[in-house]
Amino acid sequence: MSTAPTTEVLYALTVAKSPARPSPEDVLKKSHHAKSGFRNPWESFRDMDSKDIMQMMILRRLNGKANSPDTTPPTVTVRKPEFLPSRETPKLRATWLGHACYYVEFPSGLRVLFDPVFEARCGPCCGPYSLGPKRYTEPPCQIKDIPVIDVVVISHNHYDHLSYPTVSEIAKRHPNCHFFAPLGNKSWFHSSGIKNVTEMDWWDERDIAMSPKEGKQPQVEPVGEASAAAEIKARISCLPCQHITARTPFDKYKTLWASWAIESGGSKVYFAGDSGYRAVDELPEGEDDWDPKYNFPICPAFEQVGEFRGPFDLGLIPIGAYAPRHIFSPAHSDPHDAVRIFKDTKCKKALGMHWGTWVLTEEDVLEPPKKLKEALKKHDLAENGVFDVCDIGESREF
Ligand SMILES: [Zn+2]
Repeated sequence: MSTAPTTEVLYALTVAKSPARPSPEDVLKKSHHAKSGFRNPWESFRDMDSKDIMQMMILRRLNGKANSPDTTPPTVTVRKPEFLPSRETPKLRATWLGHACYYVEFPSGLRVLFDPVFEARCGPCCGPYSLGPKRYTEPPCQIKDIPVIDVVVISHNHYDHLSYPTVSEIAKRHPNCHFFAPLGNKSWFHSSGIKNVTEMDWWDERDIAMSPKEGKQPQVEPVGEASAAAEIKARISCLPCQHITARTPFDKYKTLWASWAIESGGSKVYFAGDSGYRAVDELPEGEDDWDPKYNFPICPAFEQVGEFRGPFDLGLIPIGAYAPRHIFSPAHSDPHDAVRIFKDTKCKKALGMHWGTWVLTEEDVLEPPKKLKEALKKHDLAENGVFDVCDIGESREF
């Protein structure tokens, strides 16, 4: 690592529409736009009412069919993350901060935080009055420990992905930080006091340019190459995925959900957000839903992402919150679906996410990484070094 400047250079960030690139033919039809809100325009999705889901889950509990995951420690290892001391990064570097939150350090110097939620509970209302489930693993650090945040990317508005206390603290600590969210979320950010926000539709792209702010150079004269605070450029793409949105009982599908790609300094990262891959019916216990006799339709969006925006150096792909499958498969991938997403989107490497933090569903808390190994084996992929899981707070380089 080179000699790092001791004081951070401040950057001014601008966002501009990108020149059009080839996109799938069906994009212009906007088939995911509905009368008042959005929809999943594929056979691979099955809509379910949240009241019905709740009822089915309660019934499973009463019938003794439900599994109650044991969260007694030790579960997932949590370690203190080590962030780079400067913007200089020889390699692409990703740090898992729990659930769907990743901090990515690009070789260009760009620093991106995906789906940050640092609260103990994920649900409506804040603090001790929050209604959501409580973490069984601690956050590996606090927001104040993250030295630089240029861009925050939000996949959708569910409480385990978008938190008011978290984004407002980030905006206060990093006033130049820019937030990207799918269509329909801008007004929420504005009413939360955050003005630096761009909302985007699937296949929309923006060019980000960051130039060192004049007159805001560090007081301490930095030494060596790190002092050459050059312009940082990136392209961000809002891409499809299969999910649902709501923050209240009255706003289902009113805002869009998305996966995202960011290219910067020659590195390409795909963040799959929260997504299902195909809706699976209720099957007899122990049946393999990938058995060819079932042939449940798959979501075609991931192959399009791979074809038009791939390949990616790194995919951040959800592997948890999937059981029971007939209830959660329309909106959440399991590790077998995740490996298909990995292949469809043409990721060279991947890290798992959306597990290890809150109990949202019935699978045992340490089951997702075990199932991921099974899925990798089934697809003739190495069990280590291709699509890995890491400790919370751990960084990996690519
Ligand atoms: Zn969600």
